[in-house]
Amino acid sequence: MIVQKEDPVLRKKAHPVPIGKILSKSIQKILEDMKTAVEKEEDGVAIAAPQIGQSLRIFVVSPRAYEIAERLKKGEEKSKQRHAVFINPEILKQSKEKESMEEGCLSVRWLYGKVKRSKKVRIRAYGQDGKAFETGGSGVFAQIYQHETDHLNGILFTDKASQVESLPPSPIKNK
Ligand code: ZN
Repeated sequence: MIVQKEDPVLRKKAHPVPIGKILSKSIQKILEDMKTAVEKEEDGVAIAAPQIGQSLRIFVVSPRAYEIAERLKKGEEKSKQRHAVFINPEILKQSKEKESMEEGCLSVRWLYGKVKRSKKVRIRAYGQDGKAFETGGSGVFAQIYQHETDHLNGILFTDKASQVESLPPSPIKNK
């Protein structure tokens, strides 16, 4: 279940995961729970641990995000990426150049708005295997890294957004 914006867990600064605990059953279970939770949402592209009620510095990016990025680029078929796990993520660098991007959140139903995000971000984190890695992202990925890191610091996109509007799913479309 995904917690909604009234829940205080979303406003806390999340705790770092002790590196030696990454491979533990309890953390691995949380990672699987996060994957399940994001996949249940038709429009889910990423999720942060506080969104399932766990005040830990973890976010997971869904394969859907890679599909969207591919489609935006060249309309190709499904990519076979798996979930990308970011534990104790740290934004190392972000471009000064920003763009205004359309944003929503699984914990802020059903509001959407525009948020100015750096176009490029460099990030360091630990993976599900407990190994440190560094990666860069632009466009949708830069946006996701910034949105999810904000979650770990108790910030919701609506704190920063302009032109916020409510767009509930149409009952006709609902299954
Ligand atoms: Zn969110």
